[in-house]
Order: sequence, then structure tokens, then C-alpha cells
Amino acid sequence: MKRLTIITILWSAALFSGMAQFTLPRLPYGYGALEPYIDSSTMYIHYNHHHAAYVANLNKAVDKYPELKKKSLEELLANLSEMPLDIRATVRNSGGGHYNHAFFWSVLCSPAESKMSDKLAVILSKNFGSVDNFKAEFEKAATDRFGSGWVWLVKEPNGRLRIISTPNQDNPVMSIAEVKGIPALALDVWEHAYYLKYQSKRAAYAKAFWNVVNWKEVEKNISE
Ligand code: MN
Repeated sequence: MKRLTIITILWSAALFSGMAQFTLPRLPYGYGALEPYIDSSTMYIHYNHHHAAYVANLNKAVDKYPELKKKSLEELLANLSEMPLDIRATVRNSGGGHYNHAFFWSVLCSPAESKMSDKLAVILSKNFGSVDNFKAEFEKAATDRFGSGWVWLVKEPNGRLRIISTPNQDNPVMSIAEVKGIPALALDVWEHAYYLKYQSKRAAYAKAFWNVVNWKEVEKNISE
């Protein structure tokens, strides 16, 4: 092998190993797509500053553990208790932050596209009495969550749907979660998610959220 080729291979390998493991996923719509319910300034800051910082901090944490760089985000979160102690809190907070925000963007859509199928309405009614009851219970979980956190609709291992809330950036795929399950829908109730438009009115934000839920994705998540 020519010397130059070897150098090129070594250089490529070095470059590749130094590459960020986790990346900010593309936002599936424009910043203003969720107006007027979620404003474009909030979306811009939330995605480019908050979510991007979680990704950067997670990459920095796993950088010194090459074996962890081979794992998926889900694998890291599902094995939190086995993470090296010096990065466990960062994987929990920034890894959770990355997972939660990527998931959150995927279950939102423009108001024009937000439509619940009859099939999903039947499923929600079976689990919560009615769609209105489901929404009321979800909104209550949003206002009851003290401080920062998330509200989730999850499918538990027994197939039942359940509304839960988690503090900070915790989520139901983490090994430490009180309730584990497959996330079907999530709402970010950190102040950074609504303060520019709703200030202290978290309840109004939770109610407005129903106008921009991507119910097709929710249905897909439930059937998985
Ligand atoms: Mn957030």
C-alpha cells in the first residue's frame, strides 16, 4: 500500500472517531408552522439553543468513553445505572433532553394537519372514558407537575395506555423510570417551552397544544 493511502486511511479514521456521535435531528417543519399556538421565536430558541445544547453536552460526556459512542441513545438511557459515575448525571439530563426533544418535535405538526382518526378516538375512549377525559387528564398532569418536566402518554408493557409525568429530562424509557413504557405523546412543560407566549399560564399552553398534535404519529407510536 502506498504511504499516502495509509496516511489518508489513518486520517479518515481519526476524523471519523472524532465525529459527534449524536446529532440534532432536522426539524420536520418550519419554525412558524405551529403558529399561533406555539410561536416561531419559541421554536427557534427551543430547537437551536436548548435542544442543540443537550446534544453538545451529551457528546462531550461520552467522548472519553469510546465503548459508549457505539451505543444508541435508547441503549444509554435504558442502562443509566451502568453508566460511569462521572457522566451518569449528564447522560440522564442531556441524553434525556436530547431524546425528549427529538420525540417532542415528531409528535407536533401544523394546525391544518392535526387530525385525530376515528380509530385513535376509539382507543383513547376505551382507555380514558372519552377523548375529552383523556385531554383533561393530560392537561391536569401538565399543571400538576411542580417545576420543570414532561407529560407523557405511554403504552405500558401490558398494552394499557397511561398518562404520566416525569421531572426534569427524565422519561419512560430510562432504567430509573417509575413507570416504563413506549412513549406515544409528550408535552414539554419546562418554562422555556411556553414562557415567551404564555408567561405563567401553563394551563393555557397545555390547552393550545391540542391544536398542533400530530395524531398520525401518536397512532403509529401506539401500534408499535
Ligand atoms: Mn424543552
